[in-house]
Amino acid sequence: MPVPVASVKDQLPAAAPKSWPKPMSAEGYSPSNPGAFHVVFAPSADGSESFSSKLVADRAFAPGERLALLDNKSLAPVKAYSSVQFGNGPHDHLELNSDLLFMNHSCDPSAEMYLYAGAPERWEVLAGPRGLAEGQDITFFYPSTEWDMAQGFDCSCGAKVSTQQHTCLGRVYGAAHLTLEELEARGLVNEHIRAAKAEQAAAARAKGAANAVKTNGVANGVANGVH
Ligand SMILES: [Zn+2]
Repeated sequence: MPVPVASVKDQLPAAAPKSWPKPMSAEGYSPSNPGAFHVVFAPSADGSESFSSKLVADRAFAPGERLALLDNKSLAPVKAYSSVQFGNGPHDHLELNSDLLFMNHSCDPSAEMYLYAGAPERWEVLAGPRGLAEGQDITFFYPSTEWDMAQGFDCSCGAKVSTQQHTCLGRVYGAAHLTLEELEARGLVNEHIRAAKAEQAAAARAKGAANAVKTNGVANGVANGVH
């Protein structure tokens, strides 16, 4: 059971404040955050938008500089590939309703999504500690928001060059399947993830203690039987 963190879902609108039809191709595309970033479309063979589309920076950003506020978010009707988890309740997922949807995962991300507990009006995406160059891919570490992804995916970010602790995880399932150290090595760990991680560790300790009692009990029983 995840730790109950004060949910802010009641503060999120049910629909995007501004209509945002997801762009499917470069044709007729109008960036949601002009001057900050834009989508580079990579159509698949059948012409539909594919997962290899990406978000790139329109200009350089200093370390920690804001790329965007999540100012067009809405409460997600269901957890989906497109939604972002902001708490540990069953319905604590949002839809970005902006080009930020095209931010891909990286195990060595260039940006971070800050979902401050209890303050949805401040939720934002900031440039990572290395900043961003113009034209650079904007990525974030999905387990910094996602606890347990229904369908994990094989990551092909290939991260391993910049620093040793940022090696590619290979398969990404969410924070539930990583150690706190693995999460922290990749930068931001949002508060709801940290809380769920603490709860998971406490549950593991309780289980370990219960098993130890059981094992000791059996051992004593055997010992008593011998004597
Ligand atoms: Zn990776």
